[in-house]
Amino acid sequence: MIDYVYKFRLYPNKEQQDFLDREIGCVRFVYNEILSEALEEYEKNSKKWNIYEYKKLLPILKEEYQFLKEANSQSRKLAIFNLDAAFKKFFTHQAGFPNFKKKKNSGSIHIPQFFKIEGNLLWAPKLKTPIRIKLHRKIEGRIKSLTIEKTSSSEYYASILAEKEIKGLPKVDSVISIDVGIKSFATVATAPLSNPNNRTHEHIENPKYLVKKEKKLKRLQKQLSKKQHKRNKTDTTRASSNYRKASLRIAKLHEHITNERKDLLHKLSRRIIDKNQVVILEDLNIKGMVKNHHLAKSISDASWSKFVDFLTYKANWYGRNTVRVDRFFPSSQECHDCGYRNTELTLKDRVWTCPVCGTHHDRDENASDVLMDEGLRILGQELPELTPVEKSSVDDRREIYLKSTSSLKQEAPIPEVSKNKWHSKEATHFSEG
Ligand SMILES: [Zn+2]
Repeated sequence: MIDYVYKFRLYPNKEQQDFLDREIGCVRFVYNEILSEALEEYEKNSKKWNIYEYKKLLPILKEEYQFLKEANSQSRKLAIFNLDAAFKKFFTHQAGFPNFKKKKNSGSIHIPQFFKIEGNLLWAPKLKTPIRIKLHRKIEGRIKSLTIEKTSSSEYYASILAEKEIKGLPKVDSVISIDVGIKSFATVATAPLSNPNNRTHEHIENPKYLVKKEKKLKRLQKQLSKKQHKRNKTDTTRASSNYRKASLRIAKLHEHITNERKDLLHKLSRRIIDKNQVVILEDLNIKGMVKNHHLAKSISDASWSKFVDFLTYKANWYGRNTVRVDRFFPSSQECHDCGYRNTELTLKDRVWTCPVCGTHHDRDENASDVLMDEGLRILGQELPELTPVEKSSVDDRREIYLKSTSSLKQEAPIPEVSKNKWHSKEATHFSEG
């Protein structure tokens, strides 16, 4: 069993929008009130955060502030859970001290129960009329909870969490290595696992229409900065209506691009998982790379880390294997044919000729080949004793993700491969599963 999130666009009318905005405001209000109380206790009496203690504040707040009575009680509870999560992160040094939530346009509310979807209508507690919902996909599995989100461009979305069963895919005799690109999105090498030297290559390009929209976004952002608005904290200039209109337009375009990118990455990762048993990935340090301005744009635009996340959890869902190759492995510098390391290779060199063996290389194709060799070596060395096990049922996607980040300790069935089998024609067991 896995948790799966469906996201649908909502079309609330004016009255419903007011209701949702009020609920979102309540969550923020309760969060800030409790945080300020906790902060005082922490500073004055060095008392640590304790969710049970502060939960007692909820009914007191409700008595004190009339408008909280009208809001859904789940929203108030959510505020305290959010704060608890923030404190836990603080105490485990994953984040700084929790911040007060600023009053801005966006936010979300969580509705764990008492909601229902009928046709294209969503009924939520305390709401007298149903909200129009665009169900572009059928919801499969048992529905667990609902989150309604308002984006900064004032659009509303429903995220529906459902628990569903996923059947592993039949095994296939194919391995793929994916080398993150500089010019293109990625370059991949594929081969049959039973004959891994029989390689084919493919360059996956960034779709032109998206690149175009991203350029447009940049242009609009430049124009926006020239319009009248606050330049710093002490500046009292009021934002002009043109500024506000333009920033809304930018927020909309930005959201649109993010959604389309995500959609593409979902489709691409699904296609890769469908067709390949083993997926070899470069374990890049994205933060480190973004600092390097040569790569910054392409890396962040290509959303490589998101892609790796998608591939990893899908691989676990469907019984595939991922292998991560260390980011310090010099895949682009090494000659795939003779192993010579060309340290003079720069980012600009798209093609190069190996000075030792004379092979003419496409930079990215060579890198994907070297990556595949290394991935297969790791797979062959570390896994031969392991026998295939049944895919366990896991109900936490985060858990699945965490498990799979240590790619070699996962529970998905592991193909029986060894170093010497790579060249064997008898390794046909992949098609039997
Ligand atoms: Zn060479």
